[in-house]
Amino acid sequence: MKHAYLTDLVKSVERRNPHEDEFLQAVREVMESLEPVAERRPDLIEAGVFDRIVEPERAISFRVSWVNDSGKVEVNRGYRVQFNSAIGPYKGGLRLHPSVNLSIIKFLGFEQILKNSLTTLPMGGAKGGSDFDPKGKSDGEVMRFCQSFMTELEKHIGQFTDVPAGDIGVGGREIGYMYGQYKRIRNETAGVLTGKGLPFGGSLVRTEATGYGLCYFTREMLASRGLSFKDKTVVISGSGNVAIYAAEKAAQLGAKVVALSDSGGYIHDPAGIKLDVVKQIKELERGRIAEYSKRVAGSSYHKNCSGIWTVKCDIALPSATQNELDLESAKILVKNGVAAVAEGANMPTCPEAVAWFLDHQVLFGPAKAANAGGVATSGLEMSQNSLRLSWTFAEVDERLDEIMTGIYHAASKAAAEYGKAGNLVTGANIAGFLKVAEAMKAQGIAY
Ligand code: NDP
Repeated sequence: MKHAYLTDLVKSVERRNPHEDEFLQAVREVMESLEPVAERRPDLIEAGVFDRIVEPERAISFRVSWVNDSGKVEVNRGYRVQFNSAIGPYKGGLRLHPSVNLSIIKFLGFEQILKNSLTTLPMGGAKGGSDFDPKGKSDGEVMRFCQSFMTELEKHIGQFTDVPAGDIGVGGREIGYMYGQYKRIRNETAGVLTGKGLPFGGSLVRTEATGYGLCYFTREMLASRGLSFKDKTVVISGSGNVAIYAAEKAAQLGAKVVALSDSGGYIHDPAGIKLDVVKQIKELERGRIAEYSKRVAGSSYHKNCSGIWTVKCDIALPSATQNELDLESAKILVKNGVAAVAEGANMPTCPEAVAWFLDHQVLFGPAKAANAGGVATSGLEMSQNSLRLSWTFAEVDERLDEIMTGIYHAASKAAAEYGKAGNLVTGANIAGFLKVAEAMKAQGIAY
């Protein structure tokens, strides 16, 4: 990084947040791409916007105690980091995974500010979660955890304050339990969580939104080089919510998806993944992806999950977790002729791998732009809750498509305007940042 002010700022963030590797990685990456803005907009430096945006407005950490099926008391740690409310109520998912810590929640909350801004909807940035591991827990245990979690969280959220959603480990079941507890405590029906069940205020398309949105974004990116999904081979890591619906939309757009994974390994089906089998295993049975190769002839299972990037493909959609695609994997993908990589997960591509793709003219869609479809549809769920209306699947899907198309063009335009044509990492950061920065400057320096 060359800009003196931003270099000092990053050093101070490093000093003040030791051991928060994921958060520091995100701050470095964003600040680096904002260098052209800092050069052109001294007024934003004067208003302290860069210094303020890297500090959460509020970071809450709390105890979550619950009783397991054997009657033993378990204790987990809950978090909600309310990062920035300049353009609307805090909005961002809740993650339940043993790896959750303050650094991960801060990295996700920070990224969420810019992502939410890109959607053009009025939503600030936040993230939350807990180190609770839902894997292997009974339904009753998950319910008791969620109720205990919400008993504290409800003090900090509200439909005009902070509207959490799902993320890794938090799907419709968990949102339902949390929403039930919120209602029990507050005695009010309000759109305080998104990703709710359809009978109680949920939006159609929310389940499909991130995966579908990822493909709409990728479609636009491909079109910029006269390409499309038609007859392309696609590899998607993960086999959770994002991966499954990215696979569904990619197939609808004419591509063949040949590999999916989970944290245990990956499956390869050269004939094209049968999504009904995947949905049965992952959504209904909550099983492991390895099961697929036992049920589908001609497919194979391989134990090393990062080996998925050795499968030859035209389009790669990393949709599992952070830092899952490293430089070595990027080199293999490029060697195998990949034309486009778009991030379904948050920060799945290591910085050196991103640089490799950009240096080798691979189209690259960064997470905050490419996977914004989930939060965009959450924003549409908030709108429907406020209107007391439910839109049809086609209506929501059409708005999602418009938003994702708009995000691609906003990022592409900002990149070109700031001398980085074709670099969507820089473009997305700049486009997302400018709107929040103007709002922060206009609202004065109160927090
Ligand atoms: P899910 O919990 O539904 O699925 C996560 C998937 O990733 C699972 O298949 C999981 O496998 C796999 N996985 C986890 N760790 C690894 C690993 N180290 N290597 C390979 N696979 C792994 O989560 P989502 O699909 O909702 O989220 C995936 C990513 O997308 C996350 O980064 C999330 O933040 C991001 N995202 C999600 C949005 C959404 O709307 N759901 C919106 C925007 C971003 P296993 O079962 O073995 O753990």
